[in-house]
Amino acid sequence: MRIEKCYFCSGPVYSGHGMMFVRNDSKVFRFCRSKCHKNFKKKRNPRKTRWTKAFRKATGKELTVDNSLEFEKRRNIPVKYRRELWNKTVEAMKKVEEIKLKRQTQFIKNRLKKGKELEKADAINEVKKNIHLIKAPHAGKARKMEEKMVEKLQEDVEMGED
Ligand SMILES: [Zn+2]
Repeated sequence: MRIEKCYFCSGPVYSGHGMMFVRNDSKVFRFCRSKCHKNFKKKRNPRKTRWTKAFRKATGKELTVDNSLEFEKRRNIPVKYRRELWNKTVEAMKKVEEIKLKRQTQFIKNRLKKGKELEKADAINEVKKNIHLIKAPHAGKARKMEEKMVEKLQEDVEMGED
């Protein structure tokens, strides 16, 4: 049994599920559910549809270059195995799956961390940009006015003395 990949969302297409469309140039398109088939019929681009794997990969939200993903591609080539070899392969598959999951979560964690750092930098920039609002722009002016008033008072006093 082969688990095919959905043309639209890249999700798994299990046997007996979804739709298969064969174009008149004999290219085969498989869809995991009617949602994906409908979107395909509407000529939507999976790279521009937010909920697909293609979009997530295109926008850097998912791990794209990793040798654990290479293994998955190779796995889709059917090979004849002897039983003991097969057991080993299954074990290896499980391990690779584990590693893939770990890397995927690490990647997401890093992405979130980066996002937080960017947020912080943004906040600092915002503060820097608007520092004049915090410093009160007329603080300098007020002092000057005070000085002038003092001067004037002194003048008045001096004039009164005369
Ligand atoms: Zn799908």
